[in-house]
Amino acid sequence: MNVDIDAIERVGGRLCLDFVNTRASHFASDAQDYLHDYIDLVRWMRGCEGGLGADQARRLTAAARAHPRRAAAVFAQARDLRDLLYRVLNAAARGDAPTLTDVDILDRELAQALAQRRLVPGPSWRWSWADSDALALPLWQALESAGELLVSDDLARLKQCPAPDGCGWLFYDVSKNSTRRWCSMRMCGNGAKARRFQSRQRDRAG
Ligand SMILES: [Zn+2]
Repeated sequence: MNVDIDAIERVGGRLCLDFVNTRASHFASDAQDYLHDYIDLVRWMRGCEGGLGADQARRLTAAARAHPRRAAAVFAQARDLRDLLYRVLNAAARGDAPTLTDVDILDRELAQALAQRRLVPGPSWRWSWADSDALALPLWQALESAGELLVSDDLARLKQCPAPDGCGWLFYDVSKNSTRRWCSMRMCGNGAKARRFQSRQRDRAG
């Protein structure tokens, strides 16, 4: 069953984390995957903060429909990239070192993505992309976001919604005292609270 991508909360706080959080759980290997094709990817990245703009999303969707084979190839790359970013960012969230192979691949992918950036002069300068109609644009954006997050000086705020009650989604905690525990209260926090309450009731009854 396909879910309504637009209705799913984006809670990562960073584009790369929302890109990785496109499976219902990182803990269950049979968890639902929200992305089935390139069009899903565009819809997902359109709903993320810092992701695709409405015009970009429309153009990429049209390009994918015009070139389905190319879009399928980019989508396969996107799934590999999602796995890679999950492994690296999850290790970073735990304070562990990722494997050297993963760092190598990420380095290479990141270099290729950042080579597509172009400076846009103006009263305030900004980065843009050499070809904002390229099918790989959502991947470049996710890679750029991951690179920025990994070198930021507050990686302790990168967290994972915890097992066993949580879903394993990664998020960037911007709460004042860095006390956020769940991806969201609605999706995981409340369920965990209810289960704790039930088990306390059982303990009391037993
Ligand atoms: Zn969760």
